[in-house]
Amino acid sequence: RAPTDLNLLAEEYLQLAYQSVRAKNNKVAYTLITHFDPNLRTVPVVPQEIGRVLLNLFTNAFYAVQQRQQQGDNGYLPEVAVSTQGLTGCVLLKVRDNGTGISQTVQQKIFQPFFTTKPTGEGTGLGLSLSYDIITKGHGGTLTVNSEPGRFTEFIISLPQ
Ligand code: ADP
Ligand code: MG
Repeated sequence: RAPTDLNLLAEEYLQLAYQSVRAKNNKVAYTLITHFDPNLRTVPVVPQEIGRVLLNLFTNAFYAVQQRQQQGDNGYLPEVAVSTQGLTGCVLLKVRDNGTGISQTVQQKIFQPFFTTKPTGEGTGLGLSLSYDIITKGHGGTLTVNSEPGRFTEFIISLPQ
C-alpha cells in the first residue's frame, strides 16, 4: 500500500473509462460532474486495485446511462457524478448516475460473482464482486449501493484513513 490521493486516482481512471467507452461508441454524450474535496488527505491503498474498482464503477455507470438513452426517453439528459469527501477517520468516494437504476431484487444479487443482466459478451458479472472483495477484504473498507429504478444509482466506497 502507498499513501494515495484519491482525487488524482479518480481523475486518471475517469479518463481511462471514458476512452474505452468512446472506443465502442463515439457518439456517447453525457454530463460529467466532479466534486473533489480539495482538503482530502491521502489514504493507504494499493492504487492499481482501487483503480480497478473505479474502472468497474465508471464503466457500469456509463453503460447504465447509455441503456436508458436507448430506451428513447426524449428529455433525458445523461449524467454521471463522481465525488470525494474526507470524514474523520475515512474517505468517501461516490459514483452516481441517472441511468436505468437497479430494482431491490436485483440489488441483492449484484455483488455475487457472475451475476449480470447484460447480454453475453457485454458483461461477465465479475466487476462488482471483485470490487467488493478489493474494498472490504483487501482494504478494510465498505462498498454500498443506493438506487431507484428509472431515477439513479449511487455506489459509495468508504476507505479507512
Ligand atoms: P457486469 O457489468 O459485467 O454485468 P458487474 O458485477 O459490474 O457485472 O455488475 C453486475 C450487475 O449490476 C450489472 O449487470 C447490472 O445489472 C447491475 N449494475 C451495476 N452497476 C449498475 C449501474 N450503475 N446502473 C444499473 N445497473 C448496474
Ligand atoms: Mg461491470
